[in-house]
Amino acid sequence: MNQLIRCIDCDSIFIKTPFDRCPEFTCDPGDPSETVRSTDRDDYQSFLSVHHGHRLDHPEILEDSFISEKAYIEPVKVSYYRAANKTERFVVKRFRESIEEPLRFRLIPGEYTLECIGIEIQSEEIVRQLKSDFRKSPLSQDQISAFLKLHRRIVDRIDIRNLVRIPEESSHPLEIFYKMDDVSVFYLLRNCRNIVRREAYPQIEQFIYRHKDDGVLLLKARHRIQSTERAKAKGEAASTVASVRDTKAMERERG
Ligand SMILES: [Zn+2]
Repeated sequence: MNQLIRCIDCDSIFIKTPFDRCPEFTCDPGDPSETVRSTDRDDYQSFLSVHHGHRLDHPEILEDSFISEKAYIEPVKVSYYRAANKTERFVVKRFRESIEEPLRFRLIPGEYTLECIGIEIQSEEIVRQLKSDFRKSPLSQDQISAFLKLHRRIVDRIDIRNLVRIPEESSHPLEIFYKMDDVSVFYLLRNCRNIVRREAYPQIEQFIYRHKDDGVLLLKARHRIQSTERAKAKGEAASTVASVRDTKAMERERG
């Protein structure tokens, strides 16, 4: 995990990553020998020397606390981490406005929470999967619509707090996938008896079992980031930023 250093006197932060000591390689295109020069730099050491004699704090970045409004692969975005020292909690805001800019960080005293704003079924994916799984004896359009309607109705009654989260399914931090609980699966199975004929029932039963744990029957919950900023204590200065050079590497880490 990256290390966070905060200068209390300047209210400035630095995120220490394994890349701070990487030499910077430059190449002069006009030089026929194509020599690559390397410049040693140590951003961490220069932060320490700028803040020499100041009060330093080392809040810990909390594991698995990365969150962002945009997809993981999106390079230009605002992201947040949780951090804490022994007495206070913070939100580390990571951002930049263009891809050329280095990442910037801001330490905000306070906390963020995620608020679920809706649970969706994966309608398009379900239709595609039903068509593919029932290739030999296709369901009618009415049966497919009835299945979607039934699934939606069951999901509308689900309390997300009772569900198991499937983190690896999502490419977007605010879209979280959940597995249906056993009772909901039972309702879905039972009500499918009203949608398909008896001969076709074992096949729809198989469909449900096949796709409920890691497939198209997973539920997609959309979230919103709510951040609560604690008022700064007296003596704390306004925030400031620090930069990290190897932005691509930081993106790869995804938290
Ligand atoms: Zn300082």
